[in-house]
Amino acid sequence: MSFQVSINGQLFNKQDAKISVYDHGLLYGDGVFEGMRSYGGQVFKLPEHLDRLYESAQAIGLKIPIDKPEMSAEVYRTLEINQLSDAYIRLVVTRGSGSLGLDPNRCSDPQVIIITDHISLYPPERYQEGMEIVTAATMRNHSAALSPRIKSLNYLNNILAKMEGLRAGCDEALMLNHKGEVAECTGDNIFIVKNGCLITPPSDAGILEGITRNSVIELALQLEIPFAEKTLVRHDVYVADECFLTGSAAEVISVTKIDGRTIGDGKPGNITLRLGEAFKRLVNSQ
Ligand code: PMP
Repeated sequence: MSFQVSINGQLFNKQDAKISVYDHGLLYGDGVFEGMRSYGGQVFKLPEHLDRLYESAQAIGLKIPIDKPEMSAEVYRTLEINQLSDAYIRLVVTRGSGSLGLDPNRCSDPQVIIITDHISLYPPERYQEGMEIVTAATMRNHSAALSPRIKSLNYLNNILAKMEGLRAGCDEALMLNHKGEVAECTGDNIFIVKNGCLITPPSDAGILEGITRNSVIELALQLEIPFAEKTLVRHDVYVADECFLTGSAAEVISVTKIDGRTIGDGKPGNITLRLGEAFKRLVNSQ
């Protein structure tokens, strides 16, 4: 089925959904985006995703031409037109078309794009058995250069690390910050479990503060699983009892091997499974 794509509130068939080659989103990666999911017709944590989108836009001085309630209505309209209830939603706002120079002031027509589709990030067996990752040599963007908190259209930093993962035969790669501390994976946040305690790097480790990450933390607190935000180094992951990743597209997925070392007993751990189940219940209970 060819899904309809919304561009500035107008619907186009997928193959006709196009924007200008002069758009600074294309020319310079100048724009912001969100990736979210709907379950049973309800977009999971839509207000949180919209807050992050508008904050990313604010941080790059981009004025989104519609407000949050209008954006929310357009997301639901696009889902309904496409008769999608369990979907992946990609919201993109570009700087718009301008001249062949960096100056964002020469762009006057930000494009608001809503794509609704299906996504399967990793093969189903990875969810049962866990996945293997490697540490990338590509450092996560220094937050003084381009803050990882901005979900911008410039994802080359992550793509370069992803290529390293793929070259090593892995679907994901761990990225370290400029201090050599664990930051996050190329499209997911990372958690470990050590001696019964759930640990994840703090937001000042140079990460995107994931919405799935925050939901998992809330679930851990509800389930009375001890939790700490703590600086981690690679060694902490090597000697962890469990490890898993979170993301809107990935959801919750166990990591059972990193840099050729088996984590714990090499199977998805107990706390990972409990949180994964709780997350499934949460998204389906909306
Ligand atoms: N880190 C990065 C770099 C990401 O791109 C994403 C989203 N794909 C995440 C973490 C996870 O964020 P969320 O749970 O909000 O999808």
